[in-house]
Amino acid sequence: MTVPALLGGCKKDAPEGESESAGANDSELVATDADDASKTSKGYKIEVIDGVTYIDGVLIANKTYALPRSYDGNGLSSDQLTPLAQGAFDKMAAAAQDEAGLSLFVVSGFRSYETQENLYNRYVEEDGKEEADRYSARPGHSEHQTGLAADVNSVSYDFEHTAEGKWLAANCYRFGFHLRYPKDKEEITGYRYEPWHVRYVGEELARELYENDETLEEHFGITSSYEDYEAALRGPVENDISYNVQKPTPYYAEDVVIEDETDEEAAASDETERSASQDEGDTEAREPATEKATEAETAAEVPADAFDVPGSVG
Ligand SMILES: [Zn+2]
Repeated sequence: MTVPALLGGCKKDAPEGESESAGANDSELVATDADDASKTSKGYKIEVIDGVTYIDGVLIANKTYALPRSYDGNGLSSDQLTPLAQGAFDKMAAAAQDEAGLSLFVVSGFRSYETQENLYNRYVEEDGKEEADRYSARPGHSEHQTGLAADVNSVSYDFEHTAEGKWLAANCYRFGFHLRYPKDKEEITGYRYEPWHVRYVGEELARELYENDETLEEHFGITSSYEDYEAALRGPVENDISYNVQKPTPYYAEDVVIEDETDEEAAASDETERSASQDEGDTEAREPATEKATEAETAAEVPADAFDVPGSVG
């Protein structure tokens, strides 16, 4: 499948090649043999491999780009991070302790598609779909499904004002993390401000995002919108180059199990007719902040040089 490349208004040339990248620490995540390639509005290469989207080698999960149900971050268990992300987190936590006497820990890491589905469904039941979509990702669209995102210490807006929250915001880029959902960028990222949610992107890209005050969407020139996702499912629209999405793996038609309907019926009703209680959901925040320091658990497994591998991207 191919989608027309967007050339208009390119602001800069994307660096080519070397995708030893963030989100690509684990060999299986490296974008090497693409089934598809196109460009973002800023000229960065988009590749879709086994239903997973990499932009300039960086794995992307947002409202426009979904992960398939089968994606498990290369065998991650609930709340783990990928080895490279965990190694970077451990290094960051050690620095927070040494430099400021602060304790940072992961309260929520990897989530499976099914976990996200359950969370989102619950939030939709509680708050309705529109509100749930502001803070919770639909299944397939949560960054927690990548194994590269962590909720740190406390899933609470008060976290912003704590010493730990301030330290995290000011220093996480040094360790390859990006404060993924900044204040006042809800329209760009698709999610409300989350002072506790960081995404591992590698030190080079993290520094660039930090210094330019950019999100991944702004940096790469991509959207985060369920409308674009759904438009991509329908295929490229002739004469419409206003979006630059690859066709992701559809999850409604194939993946959603709706009670009292056969799979075929579920597929047929897909996009438009799902009732709130049947919707796929996913979520970012609002998990109870269980106290759970996972740093130590996996630290020993991370090679010392892992810290220097991150990925690239310019
Ligand atoms: Zn989160």
